[in-house]
Amino acid sequence: MTAVVLLGPPGAGKGTQAARLSAALGLPHISTGAILREAVAEGTELGRAAREIMRRGRLVSDRIVLGIVEERVARPDCRAGFILDGYPRNRAQAEALDRVLDRLGAAPRLVNIAVPRAELEQRLLRRQQLEGREDDASDAARQRFAVHAAESRPMLAWYGGRVVEVSGVGSRADIFARLRSALDGAVAASPGVTS
Ligand code: AMP
Repeated sequence: MTAVVLLGPPGAGKGTQAARLSAALGLPHISTGAILREAVAEGTELGRAAREIMRRGRLVSDRIVLGIVEERVARPDCRAGFILDGYPRNRAQAEALDRVLDRLGAAPRLVNIAVPRAELEQRLLRRQQLEGREDDASDAARQRFAVHAAESRPMLAWYGGRVVEVSGVGSRADIFARLRSALDGAVAASPGVTS
């Protein structure tokens, strides 16, 4: 089973690259942010619980996001593997993910997409203008960077050498090529994929 885990700050391009990898590997793309946004749009109980937290750029509780991930990876389309985007974001989530993957018998391929802060800020600004994502607006975006520094960076340190770093600067195609070579075995393992 191939469990690809894309890490990186807000605006690093995790979603874009996860979608490409998903198409190339024939594995489902699981974005906790997208699942939460959908729940907010639908006004479900989960959405009502998450809405205000997301709007302010904070993290939804570890318990809630773990529940989302456990439920999603248990579905039949994840049997051959999956691409995780936006999970884990702190050390507790990383430890929980290790337990989930152990149970599934999956060894994760962890990749951190690194982009300088000034470029990230520009990207979020552009995305806010194009897509109107509420949490890309400046106050929430600042908060998301602060959460990344306070929670996700220490998680990366905890993972240590288990994470491969890839530069997320350049064209989407270039970044994708770097990701593929960082993931070599995982990508090559998927039969019948040409892109
Ligand atoms: P993203 O689309 O990954 O940028 O996520 C958007 C927002 O969803 C985040 O700012 C959080 O409020 C929430 N979220 C997504 N993934 C997680 C996670 N793993 N843990 C906690 N909150 C999350």
